[in-house]
Amino acid sequence: MRLILLGPPGSGKGTQAQRLVHKHGIVQLSTGEMLRSAVAAGTPIGLQAKEIMANGGLVPDEVVVGIIADRIEEPDAKKGFILDGFPRTVPQAEALDDLLRKKHLKLDAVVELRVNESALLARVEKRAEETRARGEEVRLDDTPEVLTKRLAQYRSLTEPLIHYYSERRKLLTVDGMMTIEHVTREINRILTALGALEPKEHEDHAPKSAKKAAKAAMKASKKPAKKVAKSAKKAAKSARKVAKAPSKAKAAKKTVKKAAKKAVKTAARAAKARNGAKTAKKAAKKLTKKRAKR
Ligand code: AMP
Repeated sequence: MRLILLGPPGSGKGTQAQRLVHKHGIVQLSTGEMLRSAVAAGTPIGLQAKEIMANGGLVPDEVVVGIIADRIEEPDAKKGFILDGFPRTVPQAEALDDLLRKKHLKLDAVVELRVNESALLARVEKRAEETRARGEEVRLDDTPEVLTKRLAQYRSLTEPLIHYYSERRKLLTVDGMMTIEHVTREINRILTALGALEPKEHEDHAPKSAKKAAKAAMKASKKPAKKVAKSAKKAAKSARKVAKAPSKAKAAKKTVKKAAKKAVKTAARAAKARNGAKTAKKAAKKLTKKRAKR
């Protein structure tokens, strides 16, 4: 799954990204976090970004695009990623499109977290308070003055991405004013509907093993096993039905196992009968020949 979380500062992108990471085992790529690490480490990028970030400005497009281009090459990003805080401008979105196209990768969705601006200051202040309470250093840009600037940047440079992705039919909007739990649930619901999430193990295995059982039964009995194949197919169908309900996954597995056993047994019986018939036919032929000679 490859996903972009879009929203103004304080809309909950980081929180939701972390929850998705936890649930789906994909990586969160936050350009803000990467830049803060670069600043802390005093790298050339960090030195270049430090002032800009402290003032609530945007780091040049080519710098963040470079960071993302390198980061998505890393092995942990192969399974998928959630972009948090990137892209932030139309040129960044275009550069991302190019990057993904070159790698033959598809962006599944852009989830916009829509929030009332009036709530953002309180949220950012709360975040600062919580950080302080944990004994960690508060972000230099989590102050009312810098937030005002960051919001202005969002409106003029980032908000056009709503139109950009909606034109490309990638945009999905979620009410970011709901509780954290509700927002997560809504995002997951959207992603499942899109087919962006891998089906859960139990939903996947049961029909697969039923199909396998049907195949094995067919192989075992070859031609006369029409009956066997039919019953195995029937079993597969019912197992698939049961497997659709996650709560019945265990029962589905059992049904599949049972069906597989039954199918293979019937197949073996059919094969045996066929072999018996063959031998009987052969014996009858021999007998007829013998009689004719007499
Ligand atoms: P964030 O943690 O996403 O709120 O980002 C913190 C700061 O890092 C922003 O205010 C920008 O100065 C900088 N930044 C993060 N991501 C980007 C980006 N995609 N483009 C430009 N600047 C960025």
